Amino acid sequence: MSPSLKDKIAQVFDEPGCEHNQTKDEKARKKGCTKQLTPGAAAGGCAFDGAKIALQPIVDVAHLVHGPIACEGNSWDNRHSASSGSQLYRTGFTTDINELDVIYGAEKRLFKAIRQILDRQDPAAVFVYQTCVTGLIGDDIEAVCKRASEKFGKPVIPVNAPGFAGPKNLGNKLGAEALLDHVIGTVEPERMTAYDINIIGEYNLSGELWQVKPLLDALGIRVLSCISGDGRYREIAGAHRARANMMVCSKSMINVATRMQQRWGIPFFEGSFYGISDMSTTLRDIARLLVEQGADPELQKRTEALIAVEEARAWERIRAYRQRLAGKKVLLITGGVKSWSVVAALQEAGLEVVGTSVKKSTRADKEKIKEIMGDDAHMIDDLSPREMYAMLRDARADIMLSGGRSQFVALKARMPWMDINQERHHAFAGYEGMVTMIAEIDKALFNPVWQQVKAPAPWEETETAALPA
Ligand code: SF4
Repeated sequence: MSPSLKDKIAQVFDEPGCEHNQTKDEKARKKGCTKQLTPGAAAGGCAFDGAKIALQPIVDVAHLVHGPIACEGNSWDNRHSASSGSQLYRTGFTTDINELDVIYGAEKRLFKAIRQILDRQDPAAVFVYQTCVTGLIGDDIEAVCKRASEKFGKPVIPVNAPGFAGPKNLGNKLGAEALLDHVIGTVEPERMTAYDINIIGEYNLSGELWQVKPLLDALGIRVLSCISGDGRYREIAGAHRARANMMVCSKSMINVATRMQQRWGIPFFEGSFYGISDMSTTLRDIARLLVEQGADPELQKRTEALIAVEEARAWERIRAYRQRLAGKKVLLITGGVKSWSVVAALQEAGLEVVGTSVKKSTRADKEKIKEIMGDDAHMIDDLSPREMYAMLRDARADIMLSGGRSQFVALKARMPWMDINQERHHAFAGYEGMVTMIAEIDKALFNPVWQQVKAPAPWEETETAALPA
């Protein structure tokens, strides 16, 4: 590992926004999180993967993977992160290095690839991602990017997060470091207002940002940049002029928020767009921070008025499903804030939450579950696929909401399932998103296919009829 990458990782681990890190003494903090990775951990996503996930939603940038073609994986698209403009981010670019490059080095090949992309695609910038092989043969992507930037007069940004650096989470943060080192603060926005905010760690999956943006528009709050969903290079480069930052709960890019506070004095708060009360709290926090930073205090009154109208409208639409959904049992297998933030909406629609997984939840998340559901009986620490299957087969749950990995457990049990994690096809953010979620549950539960797959197959019926009485 190069000394600069080592330093960068140590810097990322010494994170003031990380509660765990702050409980350590000075010496331990400097050492960082030295826990050894479990062999095979990269199968769940390596650092390169994490950096690419974090940055690929910047839509007008060409994302060039410097490495063997297999690192790039899909040559088209990402995790349904939507764009309102350029589609360039969806194309996979790679230097596709071969054996000779491994022997002689692949820096020239990288330089040529950058030139080709700039000539053919004219992107706002090129992001160059380091991978294990090119990292191990010692290709200096920082030097190549610097030279290409000077020669072609366009930003060429090195993203130094080779897979061997660590897991996906670390990669998210190393990707964010590339923005902090080379992008944020390099362009001055054309105009600034007292109502400018950045949203950090929101990826606009299936267009979720667009369920929230109209609310901010209605309040006159401008999203100066979103890092990184539906992001534009120039907007992110000028993000240092925002009055406040919102850090979306996942903390995947907490280092952007803390560094921007240190460098430019931009205050931040952590919020979530999932769940009705969370959405309202987030709007209140944004308004409060902006007022503290000099916006007109009447913004808070307008925010309360908007919340009252939007909450009432959303609850009414959710209640409309009550009669159909009353008594249906839901098994919620997700993590973090979603393990509790969507529960209120489910309950309001008449659904009964029989269990929610807390494997990836913090202590605060668990407290919140207790508060909403009364006791900890509903918390599931770790449910094996076999147990999940048994729960569904014995009809202890009518539908499972989870990530794509467990979908086949539900399908095998011939029970409805809905994707609630990052590969979902529907947007579940804000007030609108909660109504969509209930509507989608309704569709999944009452889909006529379940009756058909649960009925005995024709040959089973024949066999039964043929048995002697
Ligand atoms: S960067 Fe390394 S760990 Fe990640 S996909 Fe490529 S070879 Fe595998």
